[in-house]
Amino acid sequence: YGDASQKIDYVFKVVLIGDSAVGKSQILSRFARNEFSLDSKATIGVEFQTRTLVIQHKSVKAQIWDTAGQERYRAVTSAYYRGAVGAMLVYDITKRTTFDHIPRWLDELRAHADKNIVIILIGNKTDLGDQRAVPTEDAKEFAQKEGLFFLETSALEATNVEEAFLTVLTEIFNIVN
Ligand code: GDP
Ligand code: MG
Repeated sequence: YGDASQKIDYVFKVVLIGDSAVGKSQILSRFARNEFSLDSKATIGVEFQTRTLVIQHKSVKAQIWDTAGQERYRAVTSAYYRGAVGAMLVYDITKRTTFDHIPRWLDELRAHADKNIVIILIGNKTDLGDQRAVPTEDAKEFAQKEGLFFLETSALEATNVEEAFLTVLTEIFNIVN
């Protein structure tokens, strides 16, 4: 967790997108503050959260943007995507529709964001495995076909959240270095 006194070598903007209630805000909360809330309401007034970490001896400030209830189709504006070098495309493994909407989010992203943006597909809520509606293989296959990184996470159990952000940030770091 960030050390305010250190100098910052890089600032990377990463955007969270995906249907409402898939867990975007809780994934961010887990990453930025190591907190989780089961009854989270849409984040109000906060555009992004930051956390500074060290990658290959450089300090990298991750500036993670979260949609504040703009998940309706096409409601996310181009300002949200502007300057983003990474994107986390999130669905809920227990809700098939949230996975079925991923191609639409990917189209949105590719229409608005830089063409070299690093994208990771994230299937969240693995702690609810008994309610799984999206097989891991389906998502893995889709990610491979589209050239996306892929991980399943649980913001609740803190599973793979750190790994997901590190995957994106390290890839961005390697691209700019
Ligand atoms: P957002 O609309 O995509 O930002 O979704 P939220 O982060 O607000 O989460 C929606 C609901 O799902 C909230 O009740 C969260 O507590 C819950 N939630 C988020 N992540 C997880 C998870 O990993 N496991 C479980 N069981 N619930 C989660
Ligand atoms: Mg939210």
